[in-house]
Amino acid sequence: MALTGSLVVGPDRSGRTVAIVDGIVAARAPDATPTLHCSDGEIVPGAVCAHTHMYSGLVPYGMPQPASPPENFLEILGKVWWRLDKAIDAQSLEASARDYIARALLAGTTTLVDHHESPNMIDGSLAILGDACAALGIRAVLCYGATERNFGREEAVRGLAECCKVQASPLLRGLIGLHASFTVSDDTVREAGDLARDFGTVLHVHVAEDMADVADAQARGSAGPLERLLSLGALVPGSILAHGVHLSADQVRAADAHRCWFVHNPRSNEGNRVGYARMLSHSTRVALGTDGWNADMAEEESALARLAGQNGDAGFSGRLAAGHRLVAERFDTHPEPLAPGAVGDLVVRTNGGIRHVVVGGRPVVCDGRLVNGNLDTIAEAARTQASRLWTRMATI
Ligand SMILES: [Zn+2]
Repeated sequence: MALTGSLVVGPDRSGRTVAIVDGIVAARAPDATPTLHCSDGEIVPGAVCAHTHMYSGLVPYGMPQPASPPENFLEILGKVWWRLDKAIDAQSLEASARDYIARALLAGTTTLVDHHESPNMIDGSLAILGDACAALGIRAVLCYGATERNFGREEAVRGLAECCKVQASPLLRGLIGLHASFTVSDDTVREAGDLARDFGTVLHVHVAEDMADVADAQARGSAGPLERLLSLGALVPGSILAHGVHLSADQVRAADAHRCWFVHNPRSNEGNRVGYARMLSHSTRVALGTDGWNADMAEEESALARLAGQNGDAGFSGRLAAGHRLVAERFDTHPEPLAPGAVGDLVVRTNGGIRHVVVGGRPVVCDGRLVNGNLDTIAEAARTQASRLWTRMATI
């Protein structure tokens, strides 16, 4: 299966035509290039989800609540998310990823920047995610969030090694991942930075999602997790910092000066009750993510607008669009979506709905249906694997 294609899309109802040649937007395409007609539609860029966890794709299939309600962020991790990731195996991860990707594409999301953890199945986990992305045709940026929180340094070494196995392709890039400052030693942080430099890529890590991360870094002698990661040389330019809820304006500006990205995940922050990332407006590089919630970016944007209003944050606009710049940095393409040299990812909307989705010049959703899969079949597999997963979670 070719990963990219050549396609002319349009003209749409405003007369716009986009030519894509070998996966990249071009000024024009050769005469014989196939055409996707959309005279009653509107061509818009595909959306970017700049931080998520495909391993949580089965959560909507009835994940049981913990026996006693978690009282704070660390308890939410311990009683919910860290039990879920420990229970993940190959079959449940594949089903979770396929369901998550399918619904992302149907919502018009064309790139997922994923941060993966499955401590009892580290080796081969990113290949499962990469295969699922390639099969359904989504663009993806993958990493394993290396951590020492279950099995110590050996676990982190295996997590970093898994990151290095991702083979770049026209629709796939690998990053070096750390779970978060508070679950890794100095040696692991240093190694992550070295690997990012060696592989010409960047770090993807949770930073200051909760005060617990800040307190841990301070107990280790740093001003905070940002300063710790910087002082250990891990934050190469372009690195992706998820959350940044508990940072000062000066800290956010310092990360911006190092050309680091922040990813705001408003629904997750609200759900985990960690606060609102008020200071991110002091950065010029803030994208929007969902942190494992569904990848319908219109839903995330509307949550952002609601929470920004509640928190008096007037500087929240442009985050969804900023994701295109982040993708362009990783794929060495033009940052302006739909401009010549940009990735050939777009959506044709009709009457406000998603009609066609194109990734890398290949149609992946046509007339509101997946091209490379069947949503009912994917959902059935997800339901089956979810019930197995909840059974295993109950024993952890
Ligand atoms: Zn996350």
